[in-house]
Parts: sequence; structure tokens; C-alpha cells
Amino acid sequence: MPVLRRAPGELQFGTDPRWAVRFVGLDAAEESWIQALTSGTVRTRTGAPGLPTARRQALLRLLDDARLLVPPPSRTAVSPAPGGGEAEVGVLGALLPDGDAHRVLAGRAGAEVAVVGLGRLGATLAATLATAGVGTVTLHDASPVLLTDVGLGGYRMRDVGARRDAALSRILGEISPDVRTRGGPSSGAPDGSGAPDLVVVVEHRAADPGRVRELVGDGVAHLSVVVREADVLVGPFVRPGLDPCLRCVDLHRTEIDPCWPQVAQQLRDVAAPEHEESVVAAVAASVAAGQVLTFVDGAVPRTAAACVEIRAPDAMPRLRETSRHPLCGCGELTSAPPDGAPLVRSARTSGRGRG
Ligand SMILES: [Zn+2]
Repeated sequence: MPVLRRAPGELQFGTDPRWAVRFVGLDAAEESWIQALTSGTVRTRTGAPGLPTARRQALLRLLDDARLLVPPPSRTAVSPAPGGGEAEVGVLGALLPDGDAHRVLAGRAGAEVAVVGLGRLGATLAATLATAGVGTVTLHDASPVLLTDVGLGGYRMRDVGARRDAALSRILGEISPDVRTRGGPSSGAPDGSGAPDLVVVVEHRAADPGRVRELVGDGVAHLSVVVREADVLVGPFVRPGLDPCLRCVDLHRTEIDPCWPQVAQQLRDVAAPEHEESVVAAVAASVAAGQVLTFVDGAVPRTAAACVEIRAPDAMPRLRETSRHPLCGCGELTSAPPDGAPLVRSARTSGRGRG
């Protein structure tokens, strides 16, 4: 990270408050040795004129305590992200104690994420995941590309009328030929065979807990995204058995509005154009991508037990917590769901290392 000189004898490492530190009281020899070390012109074992070995080792200990020293990556993983994922490496490495971003990229390369519903929002999400190095993105939407889909996510005028999954598969292939896309003319909905690590379901007006259950079966993590009249709801992210599910959310809502079940059913049955306003679609796709990648990288997404509401016109995300409903029974899918428990993953990747 950048090493910045604040004053004589005072260096600042980085600017992010999560890890930035200042070293003060350095003499000229120490300052120039650290500068040379961070620019790669000397190595940690190399001494310097005017710098006693004991003092050099003390500085190394301080740098190590500040988590500024990382070992070289064990290997350079091949990432399907454009440019081999080099654009991701700096940020991902800064977030890890050992700085080994290539391990995270290897995890992403082995991951499979399904996206159901490929309008502007779903297409933008799929393109973001391919850009970030997710190895397999499965695409599920046989409906045609509309004029109103063009723009965000990559659909162009020449795609109008083509199947959304087929057109988007081509677009992802243009982002990276190494990203595997499944979907297109021969595929239907995810059916549990060769289950993905995670399914994102983009729906309109109201979520359908029954549809999610049908799509993902039991045990596959999923993220709900619902495009409503003038906002988008991202969440909850459901690790089955660990987090409140979509039915929990519906049951809570029914407590506030006893008519919600019949209202929700009518919303699901409405046959109306499913438009996605540009700004909320763009922000919602990015928020959803952040949740997906957090999970793929081995951490707990913030929308586990929460929803993010993204309203027009300013699209400023607002977090709304949710909780398991006592009448739902979804907690019985697992015997012990403590916070921080190992993530529920599909069998295909359950042995993979976590970041
Ligand atoms: Zn539930």
C-alpha cells in the first residue's frame, strides 16, 4: 500500500481507516530503509548504513504487527476475470491477514452462481460476477431481450428479440472467454442436479417463497432480489437452516398486515410489463454482487437476516433487519445454527478452503 511521508521522521502506511498506521520518531536512515523496502529495492534481511540490526529487526516486528508484511502468494492462480483478476488483487489482498488474494481468486474461479431473471438488473449482476472472476455463471431466463433491457448489463439493440440467456451468455463470453456460462436454449430452471453454490432470484412485485423452494431445493444458499413499484429489495440472503428465509419475511409481514398473503398472491399473478428503472437496477445489481462475492469468498453476507431497500430516485441503500419467524420452522433444517457456524454449501464445493 502507499507509504506517505507526513513530516520528518513520520510515515503513514495506507489511508483506509481499517488498517492505516503511522510510524513516528524515525531517523533518516530508518525512514529511507523503509522507503527502499516498500519500493522493493531492498529486502527485509538486507541491512543499511547507519541502521543497527537490532533496530531493523524491531522495525520489522512493528511492520509485522501492523500486518504490513505478507508472504509471497503460494502460487498464482489462474482467474477467468479479465486481466487474470489483477484489478481485484490489491483490494482482496488488503482484506486478508496473509494478503493472499490469489487464494480468493482461485475460490471464485471454482464457484458456480446461478442467476434467475435476466432483465437489466440480472444481466448487470451476471456481468459483474464474470468481471470479478466467478468461474461459472449459470443463466436462467428464456424470455426475449426487450428494447427496455438494452444498456446496463450489456444487451445491445442487435440482441432485442433473442433469448435473454443466450444473448447474455455471448456477452459474458466477450467479457472473458474463460468464464463458463450455462444456460441458453437447452436449459430450464436450476433443478438441483449439479447444484450451484448459490442462486440469485430476481423477481418482480413480490417474492415467491414457493418458487424459490422449487428452484433451489433444500440446502442451496439463495439471495432474493425483488423489483417493486419504485424500489428494489435485495435480501434476505438465505443460508438454509442458518438464516431467516423468505417465508419468515412473509410471516412477519402478515403480522403487520393480515391481508398480505392474498395481496402478495395477486402481485405475483399480475401480467404486466416488468420494467427495471436504470439507477435502482444498477445499484441493486451491485449490492447483490457484493453479497454474492462475500459469500463466495467465505464470509457471511450482511443481508443474512436483513434486506437492503434501494429506492428511486437517489438509490441510497437502507438496511432493514429481519429475523426468523417462530411459526416458519426453517430453523429445523439444521440442529445447531450458531452465529459464525460453517457456511452451508453444496456438496460440490463443501471441501473447498475458505478465505
Ligand atoms: Zn423461515
